[in-house]
Amino acid sequence: MSRTLWLTVEIRLGRRQFFEQAMVDSGSYRNSIDRSVVLREKLPIRNNIFPLMLETVDGRPLINGPITKETPPVEVKIGNHVEELQFDIIHAPRYPLILGIHWLETHDPNIEWSTRTVSFPSRYCHYNCFRHRWNRRRRDEIIAG
Ligand SMILES: [Zn+2]
Repeated sequence: MSRTLWLTVEIRLGRRQFFEQAMVDSGSYRNSIDRSVVLREKLPIRNNIFPLMLETVDGRPLINGPITKETPPVEVKIGNHVEELQFDIIHAPRYPLILGIHWLETHDPNIEWSTRTVSFPSRYCHYNCFRHRWNRRRRDEIIAG
């Protein structure tokens, strides 16, 4: 079994929707997406407001030069855990998606290494990341209105 944690995530932007493998990597800071996935799925590309120099995965350099492109926020679904994320666009064909330490710190997921499964019991996720709560909130607003 691999020492890294891979998650199947569903990406959605407007009517576009696809599944991709994401590597959880505490060695990366931000989240990234491989350029070929962006092109394949015809995701919009925009200029990165804060270009980042050189990122590495497992200590190996991935790119030469700053990361200058990013996606707009897209909906990212892992099971019933839903959020909006934007990704730095990098050239890393072996890593279609990378979720970095910032993502780990935000959601504080529980990782069961023996089965490579992840759950989201944190307070942050409880209030922010579950669709049924969004629906309930929306329904409450409708009732209140
Ligand atoms: Zn969450």
